[in-house]
Amino acid sequence: MSKVIFNYGCMGSGKTSKLLTKFNTYKRRNKNPLIIKPCLDDREGNFIGWGVTKSRITKYEEPTFYFKDLEKEIEKLEFGVLFVDEVQFLNRNDILTLCRIADEKDIDVFCYGLKTDVSGNLFEGSKHLLALADEIKEIETLCEIENCSCNAVCHIRYINGKRDYSNKSIAIEKDNITYKSVCRKHWLI
Ligand SMILES: [Zn+2]
Repeated sequence: MSKVIFNYGCMGSGKTSKLLTKFNTYKRRNKNPLIIKPCLDDREGNFIGWGVTKSRITKYEEPTFYFKDLEKEIEKLEFGVLFVDEVQFLNRNDILTLCRIADEKDIDVFCYGLKTDVSGNLFEGSKHLLALADEIKEIETLCEIENCSCNAVCHIRYINGKRDYSNKSIAIEKDNITYKSVCRKHWLI
């Protein structure tokens, strides 16, 4: 019986490195793993098709399929194990599609993503995974505020170095927008 596994963690917790490390193990054992990712993560450009997933920590990269319509596009891909990055951006139907891959095709699905947005609310994809995944694992990381040793659970967005209190949910780092992963106490301040 295959499983849907949700690995969640804050930004900077090393999710992508962990995904790539696990992917590599499956690749070396000839399990035909595949990495997919929703195309709206525009850190690497907004496009559909083949690109790469790169670890900012290890600089290691692997081919990745960027999808727009998961249910339709997944049919054309071949894989023995599925890795899904940036899973927070998926919708309910996407998560149900992943569950069917595990249940009907008997393929393990490893999902990686953020749990909560800057408002402290669950991302759409993460909410449905928390409800439906077989296993839920936290990738822990420390709060980025100086001298704090609590576990980071939330994010703060900064625009031009100032904290942004607007509730825009999408978490993309670019230009003057940066994020910090923080503990609940520092998020509430
Ligand atoms: Zn803290």
